[in-house]
Amino acid sequence: REKAGGQDEMRMLRAMYAEGEERLRQAGIEEAGLDAWYLLEFVTGVDKAHYYMNPDRRMEQSVAQEYEKVVKLRTEHIPLQHITGVQEFMGLEFQVSGDVLIPRQDTEVLVEEALKLLEQEKVPKEKETVRMLDLCTGSGCILISILYYAAKEKIQIQGTGADISEAALRIAEENLDLLEKNGNKGMAELLESDLFEQVDGTFGMIVSNPPYIKTSVISGLQEEVRLHDPFLALDGKEDGLFFYRKIIEESRAYLQKNGVLLFEIGYDQGEAVSELMTKEGYGQVVVKKDLAGLDRIVCGVYTE
Ligand code: GLN
Repeated sequence: REKAGGQDEMRMLRAMYAEGEERLRQAGIEEAGLDAWYLLEFVTGVDKAHYYMNPDRRMEQSVAQEYEKVVKLRTEHIPLQHITGVQEFMGLEFQVSGDVLIPRQDTEVLVEEALKLLEQEKVPKEKETVRMLDLCTGSGCILISILYYAAKEKIQIQGTGADISEAALRIAEENLDLLEKNGNKGMAELLESDLFEQVDGTFGMIVSNPPYIKTSVISGLQEEVRLHDPFLALDGKEDGLFFYRKIIEESRAYLQKNGVLLFEIGYDQGEAVSELMTKEGYGQVVVKKDLAGLDRIVCGVYTE
């Protein structure tokens, strides 16, 4: 027999969604509608197309309760990605946790640039193979997506992802499975290392999205970032440039002739980072913008 109308309402997808969105909105979540959607799909497995075909579909009470639970977590400003455990980046689904910076869409510009340089054969090789190093690899999203798409283009490449955090490397390790679909796990190596400390040999390309936020600015960031992304992955120390300075100074010993150094930067760091690179002997230093029109990457070639 049918239960009382009110309870049935609760189980309808459209009612679940409407309530989820409302609760997120009231909690001041910026993308309330979108997040309510992702969580609904995460819990029910129902995608948008199916939802629109049958929004009155009823879910078991236990499913409705599970949805309420994850919506509640989101009202507490837990990042969506920590609830679902994943973030899409360059069309690939990366595992994430509080031990790694959640991949940002802005960072895709860096990956696209690296792939362009590889395709145009602007990256020097060592015996037919490009050797690439990704410093501060975190979830491995940069390293892995470059290897994945390079393999698709039949580019011979080996990549090393270094990070100071062992916990981050455990997440990166899981993400290496993505390479089984394109290329293979053997293309990548992970290394626990404070920047270059444990790194051996020379590379045709070094890429990095190091921590670059000024310490004083971090307390003003949105809660999801400030409390849930690792502080270690954000903090660029006093002027935000600490890691660029260190990497640039040490990088030449690890680059082959005509090797490329490619950074993600903050929107206001283009000039400072370019200057550091030029001073260290890098040529063809260029700043490029992200999709929002903000400076996002700096690239230079080590010619001497
Ligand atoms: N882009 C990130 C943010 O805005 C920061 C990443 C970093 O410091 N490398 O939160």
